[in-house]
Amino acid sequence: MEEEQAESTLQFHDMELDERLLKAIAKLGWTEPSAIQEAAIPLMLEGRDVLIKARTGSGKTGAFAIPIIQKILNAKQGATEQAIRALVLAPFRELCKQINANIAQLTCKCSKDVKSMDVSQWDTGEAQRSLISIQQPDIIVATPAKALMHLKNKNMVLDQLEILIIDEADHILSSGYEEDLKAVLKYLPKVHQSALASATLSDDVTELKRLALRRPAVLKLEEPEMAPASQLTHYHIGAEEEEKAVILYVLLKLHLVRGKTIVFVNTVDRCYKLKLYLEQFNIPTCVLNSELPAAARCHSVAQFNEGLYDIIIASDEKNLEQPDEAPSTSKGKKGTRKKDKEAGVSRGIDFQFVSNVINFDFPKDIKPYIHRVGRTARGKNKGTALSFVSINERPLMEKVEEYLRGGSNETVIKAFQFKMEEVEGFRYRARDAWRAVTRIAVREARLKEIKQEIFNCEKLKTFFEDNPKDLQSLRHDKALHVVKKMPHMADVPEYLVPPTLKRLAGISSRRRKWRSDDAKGSGRQKPAEAKFQAKRRNPLLSMEFSGFSKKTKK
Ligand code: AMP
Repeated sequence: MEEEQAESTLQFHDMELDERLLKAIAKLGWTEPSAIQEAAIPLMLEGRDVLIKARTGSGKTGAFAIPIIQKILNAKQGATEQAIRALVLAPFRELCKQINANIAQLTCKCSKDVKSMDVSQWDTGEAQRSLISIQQPDIIVATPAKALMHLKNKNMVLDQLEILIIDEADHILSSGYEEDLKAVLKYLPKVHQSALASATLSDDVTELKRLALRRPAVLKLEEPEMAPASQLTHYHIGAEEEEKAVILYVLLKLHLVRGKTIVFVNTVDRCYKLKLYLEQFNIPTCVLNSELPAAARCHSVAQFNEGLYDIIIASDEKNLEQPDEAPSTSKGKKGTRKKDKEAGVSRGIDFQFVSNVINFDFPKDIKPYIHRVGRTARGKNKGTALSFVSINERPLMEKVEEYLRGGSNETVIKAFQFKMEEVEGFRYRARDAWRAVTRIAVREARLKEIKQEIFNCEKLKTFFEDNPKDLQSLRHDKALHVVKKMPHMADVPEYLVPPTLKRLAGISSRRRKWRSDDAKGSGRQKPAEAKFQAKRRNPLLSMEFSGFSKKTKK
């Protein structure tokens, strides 16, 4: 076995890629390959088997999709007959959908020559067989179970397969897909190239490596636990409970925080407290916590990534991207509910294009701080982490600050001195709205949301599988309406806004109110990536906002 470190200085243009592929890469805004892409693409183009150890967010989809597309384009030049040349296996339907969408983006300039099809959502009937034969895909994306069904039913043949990709291999194995996977391997021609991607190299994965890979190059991506200061800026604002509420209201309502934002709190109740509070100002938010069914969480994150809504309120008492369901091998055990292993988890479905993380509650320790702020500044993107810190939370912040400094004297979590007196006018409405969210209202909202999401997941699942477009209408940021609505709260009269904020919010001198329909998620949507680009104008990120308090500029 050969071990190679993921180190190279290649650019996409040096990789002898087809012009159409290079154009698609440029269109995606990928100016240079990620570390794993630099290492894996040339090796895969050479025909080597590869084992990639990298987590979601490292650009591993591109690392295997780009060579697949290039190899298919090469094969097509030789005028060979049409066949399925690549099979990508991933553990969950949502992940298959995401991979297929990524391949579609990369083939946008050569879509006639390279077609990809995600068959993980489908049934196995006659209609599907004809669809595959009509569309004549070159690449099939599927879960191992669905791939096996289609193979058994002769909906597809893989006797001309050239490349096999096994994504999230560790999870495929831990989800009980091992037998399906081994059965799929038997349908493949003896000679083919394989790549296996996994977040961990457990014993199971090592065993699978022996089974599926031949003399693989092992690429291990050792990543720092957090983005460097050049990418991720940390701020804190000293504020007590009701002040935190005022600041959040001002930041969100006046769009002083732009781009996608995750607001973290410490408990599930606090998620609903914040949601109901912001609801009164017509600021739509989506709640994410481990109490909600995993499929609902998965769908919420996918919709957030697609740009359907901009604000998620999350509590991290459990890792939201980890499965909380028993592996499928437990199915059939007495007393255990049968879980849908293909839809049930959000692992691999990662938050994308998050511009800001706001710690409404300061996390309880260093690890959760790092985990939270790691949701932004992914890849080569920039991000901001803004923590609201009460006097009681101050020692925790000092502990995190000391850890982040790592012995240096540089301040890492910079003070962002929000001038409360400038937003005095907002304080009264914020206080009223905050106090209106009683404990009973929170309980009611929590129950209502769980009932709603369970209904969505269980009862409507079959329907939505058949009608995927209708799934879009299943939003997770709907108002819960358990607090009595005060219509005047949705608007912000101009006299409330101090001159400094008017400038920062980009408001002209003409009279206007910040109306409910200013809020995102209510109307037309820009594509997710375009929204992320808008973060460049994010006052928080650009520190323009520090005009609000010049002292914060360092
Ligand atoms: P992945 O790890 O494949 O799920 O990718 C995570 C995110 O990184 C996706 O949103 C990709 O669009 C993005 N991405 C992948 N490769 C690059 C690149 N070379 N430059 C910038 N972004 C990238």
